[in-house]
Amino acid sequence: MGKCLIIGCGGVASVAVHKCCQNSEVFTEIMIASRTKSKCDALKDKLQGTTKTKIHTAQVDADKVDELVALIEKFQPDVVLNLALPYQDLTIMDACLITKTHYIDTANYEPLDTAKFEYKWQWAYRDKFREAGICALLGSGFDPGVTGVFSAYAQKHYFDEIHYIDILDCNGGDHGYPFATNFNPEINIREVSANGSYWENGKWIETKPMEIKREYDFDGVGKKDMYLLHHEELESLGKNIKGIKRIRFFMTFGQSYLTHLKCLENVGMTSIEPIEYEGHQIVPLQFLKAVLPDPASLGPRTKGKTNIGCIFQGVKDGKERTYYVYNVCDHQECYKEVGSQAVSYTTGVPAMIGAMLVMNGQWNRPGVWNVEEFDPDPFMEALNRWGLPWKENFHPVLVD
Ligand code: NDP
Repeated sequence: MGKCLIIGCGGVASVAVHKCCQNSEVFTEIMIASRTKSKCDALKDKLQGTTKTKIHTAQVDADKVDELVALIEKFQPDVVLNLALPYQDLTIMDACLITKTHYIDTANYEPLDTAKFEYKWQWAYRDKFREAGICALLGSGFDPGVTGVFSAYAQKHYFDEIHYIDILDCNGGDHGYPFATNFNPEINIREVSANGSYWENGKWIETKPMEIKREYDFDGVGKKDMYLLHHEELESLGKNIKGIKRIRFFMTFGQSYLTHLKCLENVGMTSIEPIEYEGHQIVPLQFLKAVLPDPASLGPRTKGKTNIGCIFQGVKDGKERTYYVYNVCDHQECYKEVGSQAVSYTTGVPAMIGAMLVMNGQWNRPGVWNVEEFDPDPFMEALNRWGLPWKENFHPVLVD
């Protein structure tokens, strides 16, 4: 069917590339382009010969619009799938505008010097994308991504109005290290050390980091402590789900992770303010990233399951109703299939699905959109087909 340019070659991109190669009818040709070309070449060498998808590789600095434009003009992709870091979102969107190419990503833009999780910078591109006749699909990972698709699906099939959404992200995996992060450490620590917040009655309620704690018994995992965090999809769901009164996001963390994080915070290692060290400017968090285990290396060590989903409360035909939809994913199964643990897998699969739906036209409208603004049904079907089957529970235990 078409050509996809994949930018970035880290944990998530590796899964998305494997999945594109399993889906050669749609992804006839892909180009993997990243800062370190040797990683792209290694992935190509691993997959070539196992797939009908033709794989190309290239070096690109995605902070530079002119380099991106030159690459897009040379390869002429139908879509660009951005799996680099959130800092590159705007330069890649600019290059897509110049070359009139559709755009998909999995995380909202963040300025390098402030940990802000807001869509305002990307939503500001709406008119430009509409006028150029191209589509930008924002946040096609798991959370954001599948959580927005679950919300649109609940809205379409089960509710007249959704009043409450609780997004529960549980990682019951154990990698055997006292402290490591399951995806890019810098992005992960920026997210969890920021203040928490939730959306209630049209306003943000801010909390201290990890201030709100609950316990939940997760299917496939068991009882875990989970903590309220700010998460980017709260902003778009607050606008796109009608009648919504409150949305919260909870993520599970083990005690060892939290104790290490507190200690690192207390000594200043999670700061994003540059400091002077032996004549160089260094950012403590970036230095910390360099000494922590590479998330890609966790694959063979991680055992256990993830369980991510959404609990909805609302009304249908005048009656109150609850609905829980979630996916359970096994770290070892993912590793067997694509050589990555479940956190990369649960993001890389929806990234491929989003790119597929934009490319085949099922989810393609000029403008800038969040996933919940499209028909959820083809995405839900694709999740079952491509490795992330979901389960439903109409009488879930609620979170107080
Ligand atoms: P990694 O750090 O493993 O990979 C990032 C990749 O981007 C690396 O290959 C890196 O290159 C490349 N890169 C960084 N800067 C540039 C640049 N300037 N130009 C070109 N390439 C660059 O991250 P992950 O794979 O864990 O995460 C990828 C994205 O997925 C992130 O945006 C993350 O926030 C998002 N994510 C979304 C989730 C969701 O559910 N929605 C969940 C998890 C992650 P190099 O190899 O040289 O370092």
